[in-house]
Amino acid sequence: MSDLRNTSLHIGFDDTDSLRGSCTTFLALRLVERISNDVDFLDYPRLIRNNPNIPWKTRGNGAIGLSLKVEEDVVESIVERAIDTLKEMYEEDENTNPGLVIVKGEVPQELNQFARKALTEVISIATAKDFAEEFCFKYYTIGNGRGLIGGIAAIGNTLQPELEDFTYEILTYRMPQNIKKKRVIDYESLAQADKKYSPQVFNNIDEETKKIIITPAGPDPVLYGIRGEEPTILLKMMKEIKTMEPISSYCIFRTNQGTDQHFKYASSEVVNFNVFRGEIKVLEKPTTIPGGHVIFQGELVSNKKSVDIAAFEPSKRFRNIIKNLLPEDRIIAFGGVRYKEKFQRFTIQLEKCEILFLADHFKEESPFCPTCNKRMISNGFNKGHKCRKCGYKNRELTKVRTLIERELSRGLFIPPAQAQRHLVKPHRRYNLSRKNVFGLIDNWWKT
Ligand SMILES: [Zn+2]
Repeated sequence: MSDLRNTSLHIGFDDTDSLRGSCTTFLALRLVERISNDVDFLDYPRLIRNNPNIPWKTRGNGAIGLSLKVEEDVVESIVERAIDTLKEMYEEDENTNPGLVIVKGEVPQELNQFARKALTEVISIATAKDFAEEFCFKYYTIGNGRGLIGGIAAIGNTLQPELEDFTYEILTYRMPQNIKKKRVIDYESLAQADKKYSPQVFNNIDEETKKIIITPAGPDPVLYGIRGEEPTILLKMMKEIKTMEPISSYCIFRTNQGTDQHFKYASSEVVNFNVFRGEIKVLEKPTTIPGGHVIFQGELVSNKKSVDIAAFEPSKRFRNIIKNLLPEDRIIAFGGVRYKEKFQRFTIQLEKCEILFLADHFKEESPFCPTCNKRMISNGFNKGHKCRKCGYKNRELTKVRTLIERELSRGLFIPPAQAQRHLVKPHRRYNLSRKNVFGLIDNWWKT
């Protein structure tokens, strides 16, 4: 590192891509390339996923934060290059509203708090503008500037190892001439690498359908992304996955994907579009509604408020867990909140569920015959039981209460990888030891 490079600069941006193409991460890589000779990077580019329940988000609601050191003299030039890269590369669309934010010096605490809110709540563009005015060195917007929200949050969410869990993702990019072609990944090589590096990598193949889930579906420049715990392993695995087309470039990002960070800061209050984490008492047997969604009424244990809890069709086998809940069971629900005006009710859309307590439920049955051991039948109300096989009769024999054997056990249940949101921590990441440092490896990006 050069001694003259002693000014910290943090660059955050979001909402640069539309559903039609481009990708915020690709813009990040271009910017890294354009400034790399003049800066010392302090971190990998951070790919920060924010509140997944916001209906007007672009796909994964992922923003980028870059932290670096520069010479004071080049600050203006870096700002210019960032704005130029954004202007040149954002996807023009009525629903694309890019925002770019630059913070000079230490990241103010207010931005850390802003970032926590962005993970769990809805923040207005006006609030983000006020923040940008007060705390940022420079900011730049196109359209309504909604991207400021994610931009500020990506700077504020520093993923400090002592405070936050984090993962990495290596994203590989396609040659421009291949962008419209179908992505072809060799299944065998991926399955082998997944097995070899598990649990240090996750969400490569859906465990239920066996589908490859490292490739996006849209016309964006990403070929595939591998998620995991260590940059060096991601680089190795990239070299082992066979593809039908060459990789034009790649970049490793440090991210909050797969960490449950949104649940860490969630509230147990139900507020429309917010992230929810709280204890629920089941009030009724769940039902399956048209479309395959499973839904039931529950009660917030904190304030006895009645809410609906839903497990949607794409969560597949996860719905069978929910379907088997019974009144008086207790769960911790993790999910997003929606308010339905028409019914004036809140629904919690489950992203995962921990079963804390399974209530005892009984069924009443006729007793077994004391002589031949066959199940007896009722002889009419208050008239005891009789045996059809041997003819034994007893007016004193009443029905017996037996405990219903539950088809559930306590524990944590998560929908299959294919249905998981980016932020959701998958089973594979439980029981891993905490990472308490990160360091930039050589070759963390290449163009
Ligand atoms: Zn009998």
